[in-house]
Amino acid sequence: MSGRMRPPSVPPGSSTSSGRCGARVTQERSTPHDPGQSGQLLRGRSGRHPSAAHQGCEGPGAPGGERTSPPTPAASDRPPRAAARYPVQYDLDFRVAQRRALNSRSVELRLVPLAKPLQFVPGQYLLLSDPEGEILPRSYSLTSRPRPDGTLSLLVTEVPAGQGSRWICRRLAVGDRVVVDGPFGDFLPGPRDVPEVLYLAGGVGVAPILALVEEALAYPRNLPLTLLLSVRGEADILAGDRLQAWQREYPRFRFIRTLTRGPGDPPRGRLPALLPGLVHSLAAVSVFAAGPEGFVDACATAALALGADLARIHTEAFVSDPKPWGGALT
Ligand SMILES: Cc1cc2nc3c(=O)[nH]c(=O)nc-3n(C[C@H](O)[C@H](O)[C@H](O)COP(=O)(O)OP(=O)(O)OC[C@H]3O[C@@H](n4cnc5c(N)ncnc54)[C@H](O)[C@@H]3O)c2cc1C
Repeated sequence: MSGRMRPPSVPPGSSTSSGRCGARVTQERSTPHDPGQSGQLLRGRSGRHPSAAHQGCEGPGAPGGERTSPPTPAASDRPPRAAARYPVQYDLDFRVAQRRALNSRSVELRLVPLAKPLQFVPGQYLLLSDPEGEILPRSYSLTSRPRPDGTLSLLVTEVPAGQGSRWICRRLAVGDRVVVDGPFGDFLPGPRDVPEVLYLAGGVGVAPILALVEEALAYPRNLPLTLLLSVRGEADILAGDRLQAWQREYPRFRFIRTLTRGPGDPPRGRLPALLPGLVHSLAAVSVFAAGPEGFVDACATAALALGADLARIHTEAFVSDPKPWGGALT
């Protein structure tokens, strides 16, 4: 008999998609597309950051132009709506099919369903725990669109003294069974008829952003997408190979990393502080920020200062859940 505890239907730590500054953001208004204003988000020549080329972060377009067909299941041009969301399922059995160490403290996992698959919308997350009930369920974002074979991908970074992340990063092996509950979260793709989208990710906060970008790249429309990824050092860029491949294949996708520590080319420093130097006005731009709580809050504040509409700012804060010290979520 499983000794694991069933989590509440709204898991602790699910303070998602809340517009900071106190207002909860659930629905983004769509705006008629103005082609004359799109693709000009980044400061510098042609809207691209001047230092991006020597970071290996800007690539040529795919030969013959940008691919417009979806990379995975056929995409409709309709955004996911509330009605398209799936009910939460508990105690789904999965097995670890692949495990890849990305650096000294991060792993990528692929989970295969043993019975029922998990249905979800890109940007959502699941709760992961062990069948023995020794590990409290922890939230992890799904890093891709739903796949036909039902496999799920996660990126996990170990936090100091963290019970769940240590179990995943140090003990969980290929062949092990895990328990999945989900899907959860409101960090969902917004309307597709916006002029431009800016993604801001801090460290492993890139996880749900990967799913959102993959979803947006599947749109038939030529929606410009920019990802600014803040990491400590170059080794902390997770899924960099995927991001660079997308950038080569889709000229409308731009990816720039910023470094907070360690050696490396500019841009360097904290992303919220760098933002005014990297982008023009964010009026009419949809902003998605994910990562540590302080990072996400600072990004939302910086985006507002650059003219972003509160209703267009979507956040996913990776709060510790439950907070080990029993603090209330704010
Ligand atoms: C919606 C959501 C999505 C997430 N997605 C991901 C993801 O895709 N990938 C990922 O790696 N993580 C993700 N997380 C974070 C993840 O759920 C866990 O919180 C994280 O892995 C740490 O869990 P743990 O069990 O290892 O740490 P815990 O055992 O819960 O401890 C957390 C940390 O808090 C520290 N701590 C203790 N007291 C304090 C204090 N007073 N002040 C500050 N810190 C303190 C501990 O030292 C420890 O380092 C997500 C979180 C949320 C809410």
